[in-house]
Amino acid sequence: MSGVIVKNLVKKYNSDVTALNNVNIEIKEGEFFALLGPSGCGKTTTMRCIAGFETPTSGEILFNDKVVNKVPANKRNCGMVFQSYALFPHYNVFENVAYGLTIREFYNGSFGSKISSFARLLSRRLAKPPKHIVDKVSEALDYVELGHLAERGTNELSGGQQQRVALARALVMEPSVLLMDEPLSNLDKKLRNTMRTTIRRIQQDVGITTIFVTHDQEEAMSMADRVAVMKDGEIIQNATPTELYSNPATPFVADFVGSSNIFEGQIVERTATGSVVKMEHFTLKSNFSKEHKDIKVLIRPEGMEIYAKDTAVNHENIIEGKVIMHTYLGPNIRYDVKVGKHEIGIEKIYVPGERVLTNGEDVKVTVDPERVLII
Ligand code: ADP
Ligand code: MG
Repeated sequence: MSGVIVKNLVKKYNSDVTALNNVNIEIKEGEFFALLGPSGCGKTTTMRCIAGFETPTSGEILFNDKVVNKVPANKRNCGMVFQSYALFPHYNVFENVAYGLTIREFYNGSFGSKISSFARLLSRRLAKPPKHIVDKVSEALDYVELGHLAERGTNELSGGQQQRVALARALVMEPSVLLMDEPLSNLDKKLRNTMRTTIRRIQQDVGITTIFVTHDQEEAMSMADRVAVMKDGEIIQNATPTELYSNPATPFVADFVGSSNIFEGQIVERTATGSVVKMEHFTLKSNFSKEHKDIKVLIRPEGMEIYAKDTAVNHENIIEGKVIMHTYLGPNIRYDVKVGKHEIGIEKIYVPGERVLTNGEDVKVTVDPERVLII
């Protein structure tokens, strides 16, 4: 197992495409680390540099504090799982998982001498594997709960099962680092949720250092110990999911890691507990403050309460507005409220039997000063 350090990594594809612009990350041994960012921000390029498939333009990659820039990909011992599964179609489940171990033994010379036909030998070996390989493959298949499908052809598997085979195939090699590039993106939502749990459980059981790439904030936030948010080839913030959510470094991060309300405003007064911030159509007390005057205010949708206009409400932060839409989101209900020319999104747990505020209704919205974040 390895900790991984990425130091001042720059990758230019041509003189005009800078895919990575000074990326720095430290991944601790055994950590589940997510790289989160929109398409094209450089996530795959980062992974390919770590795995050794791409040569950095400058910067260093270290495994266990040793620089591996000159170590070829096949000697870095990274397990890879891709969005596309990339299984061998002509091998069954068992053979797919046994393949890497068999090849490794071949290169270590334990196939014996006089190798005339590599392909024929490989097929024979896969068809009649020695016990130690059978045991390892069985163990890996049990981990992903596919022991009963070892003899199946990969074309007879569902997408989720194929992804489990890909995971077993990576794990069986006992890699020092597991790299997963958008592994769940081809699965439907329900299966994606199940696979999240499966991957996280296995990662914790095995304790393997894992780097997981995704553009799905929910996936990153629910699975990872730490998340690095990337944009345009740079890491914008690197923190635990709770830190990212409660203390985003920039509006981009705030927006990317959770649906949010961001308003431009000004600090008009500094108080003992924080500040008073004025937006175009309303003024709020915040428990936070900043040095400079022009700021952005972030209020998470679940950080507010909403009441019908005639409800008596005693609160230090009241905003008046009009419901323009209400939407049921599973256990929650979301209200979009118009305030001047702004819209505020509010999410509340829906309590059965309670009156749902109607579209067009005048309302009062309250915000706890603790929930008025300044970024
Ligand atoms: P992500 O995985 O986050 O979607 P990538 O790492 O694939 O992003 O790409 C980052 C940037 O590098 C993009 O602008 C992409 O077009 C560019 N890029 C990726 N691979 C190549 C390549 N082989 N040649 C030229 N440009 C590339
Ligand atoms: Mg990618």
